[in-house]
Amino acid sequence: MSSKSPYEILGIEKDATKIEIKKAYRKLALKYHPDKVINPNDKIENEIKFKEITTAYELLINDQYHENDAANSNDDDFFNFFNQSQFTHPQTTIDPPIPLPLTLKELYNGKNIKFQLNKDDLCSLCEGSGWKRRKNGDLYTPPIIDCTICSGHGFIEQIVDQGFFQYRQRIECKKCHGRGKYIARPTNGKNKCKNCNGVGICKQSSFITIEVVRGMEFGGKIIMSEQGDYVLEWKRHNDLIFEIVEKPLNDPQIKYCKLPTTHDLTMNITIPLCDALTGIQNLYLTKTFDDRFLYLTTPVGKVIKPGDVIKIVGEGWPYDHGTTFGDLYIKINIEFPPNNWMSEKNDIIKLQNVLPRDKTNTSASEKINDPLNSETIKTFDIVTSLPNGNTNPNPNNTYKNTQQNKDSQCCVQ
Ligand SMILES: [Zn+2]
Ligand SMILES: [Zn+2]
Repeated sequence: MSSKSPYEILGIEKDATKIEIKKAYRKLALKYHPDKVINPNDKIENEIKFKEITTAYELLINDQYHENDAANSNDDDFFNFFNQSQFTHPQTTIDPPIPLPLTLKELYNGKNIKFQLNKDDLCSLCEGSGWKRRKNGDLYTPPIIDCTICSGHGFIEQIVDQGFFQYRQRIECKKCHGRGKYIARPTNGKNKCKNCNGVGICKQSSFITIEVVRGMEFGGKIIMSEQGDYVLEWKRHNDLIFEIVEKPLNDPQIKYCKLPTTHDLTMNITIPLCDALTGIQNLYLTKTFDDRFLYLTTPVGKVIKPGDVIKIVGEGWPYDHGTTFGDLYIKINIEFPPNNWMSEKNDIIKLQNVLPRDKTNTSASEKINDPLNSETIKTFDIVTSLPNGNTNPNPNNTYKNTQQNKDSQCCVQ
């Protein structure tokens, strides 16, 4: 249905006299009267059309229609046309959440955000009815009238055409939400509450404070119960809902980030091979979200192997309102020296004397003494992965190795 004025519905000029209005109505009413329908499939459609005509006629003949009422209406829907011009029912929808951009640092520390909100409030003068008060100051009690769309039934019947068969379906009346009646709204400027212009709602500005609890996460919602717009139909304020969205944190000193779906933080560090063999001394790690600076020292002689991950208990993400913290996982990359790193051959010999030699390849069981069938390979490439995305370098991995792999995988950024 289109958004038509009552004049358009009746097909008459805006300056039509009451006699012309009556004439036009009678003509259309005869055409669309539900009792006159020959084809039963047209019954519902005609019934709606008939109600439309009747309502338009009643508005015009009782001088209840004003052009500026229609100016407020830009909806395509006939029902909405009436909502806007005559009755004004707020929609019973829940507003989508309001995005609240916050950085990881702000979420780690928690914060209160105070701001001014312009929201719908119940009109205190008419208490929501939209009607002007009586001369003695009492509230006017608005009439409860039958719904003009469903004639008080609360539903509209519709023919559903399934091709091979048809059936009647009752759908709830959009206008009265199935009640069949509603409280009339003032249509005449003289009857309207001056404070809210007949709507029952006024804009009100107020300060609210959003409490962002320590440890909240992106995608988390903050629900402020009954802090939103007033909804006449519910007789209460709507909830005000915020959704936390990510705001980039521009602090190059903070080098860790949150591991998704855990209470843990993670970062990568690169240490030289020498430190991996001898121990780490006062290595700068990161600035924390609460502005501390973390350094790492490992015991002298503590060996760090490729794939090792350092876990620092309690340096992770806050949870349970900031009473408990997750852990910090540091994935270690060991930087090996480049080819021909030694300055003289003597360096190699010194290292060979110091480092324990790998004995795995010289074990008696694997040493086959068959010089005729032995080859020494000296031509090869060094690559970083197995073909076709395979990651397991050793199909005979022990249980222990598998566990280590798991630990290091959880830290991949
Ligand atoms: Zn009011
Ligand atoms: Zn209805």
